Amino acid sequence: MKINNIIQDTFGRKHDYLRISMTDKCNFRCFYCMPDEKLSFYPNSKLMSADELLNIAKTFVSLGVKKIRLTGGEPLLRKDAREIISRLSNLPIELAITSNGYLLDEYMELFKEIGLQSVNVSLDTLDADKFFNITKRDYLGKVLSNIKLFIDNGFRIKVNMVALKDVNIHEIPDFIEWTRNEEVHVRFIEFMPFNGNSWDFSKIVSYKEILKIVEGNFEYDRIEDAKNDTAKNFRIKGGKGTFAVISSVTDSFCGSCNRIRLTADGRIKNCLFSNNELDLLTAYRKGEDIEQLIFQNIESKFKERGGLPEFEDIKKEEDLGKGRCMFAIGG
Ligand code: SF4
Repeated sequence: MKINNIIQDTFGRKHDYLRISMTDKCNFRCFYCMPDEKLSFYPNSKLMSADELLNIAKTFVSLGVKKIRLTGGEPLLRKDAREIISRLSNLPIELAITSNGYLLDEYMELFKEIGLQSVNVSLDTLDADKFFNITKRDYLGKVLSNIKLFIDNGFRIKVNMVALKDVNIHEIPDFIEWTRNEEVHVRFIEFMPFNGNSWDFSKIVSYKEILKIVEGNFEYDRIEDAKNDTAKNFRIKGGKGTFAVISSVTDSFCGSCNRIRLTADGRIKNCLFSNNELDLLTAYRKGEDIEQLIFQNIESKFKERGGLPEFEDIKKEEDLGKGRCMFAIGG
């Protein structure tokens, strides 16, 4: 339903933040996002074209969306990414992007031109060998130099690190130390269950565990969170940057959820974990009204976790239902 020109669900949550996956393709192969088995990507005919993406986004903006974050796969891999980003920047919204950082330098001047300031970079380790093990790519140097380039050019860089028990838990202090002399905003994300990522509750590093590690190494302060922020924010004493925890699994934030997702193949998802999608693209291509589909989808939104059971009770992949892999959602 639309109240005061904003999309609202049956729990009274106002939805003004749209995350658009521009493509399901990526030049990295992170094991917790892209399962090993043979991957199949959407043919271009199934992806929203630049015009379709723009017009569907305009509909959401007319329904009260104020912020759009571009995700993927890797959004900057799209050949028409420059065109899409430029045209979206003309809408009355805050535009932001999440990238794996590899191609960022090629877009810095464009971002400056259009005033895109908020860039999130996914980075799970500061160790080159571990980077290769996680992503199957030898690109750590390029990603780190692009992060430095953007910080030095005044961009607000958030680094998203998926904290994993047997992979990078010991690097948490290194990431926090990075915030002492660099204006970088590190966010530790609890590992979330998606189809194909062999998730198990025992693999997550919880919010409490992360704070225990911090307490053992740093003096720090809790700082104010932004409105609807999914992160709990902190700063070490005298730190230039900040660190935060996104506790989707052990301390979720569904109560203030304002997020809607649009997948690269033009389907609306009212929650990261919801399997209840509606196909806006096909309706749009038939010249049908997509507003009703948007309201219908948001009205069917569950109170939390897209109707999934408590995460502790997710024991096997079937418990997730017929969902998507992470790379086909865009986080
Ligand atoms: S789990 Fe779903 S409802 Fe909860 S915060 Fe995430 S997207 Fe929103």
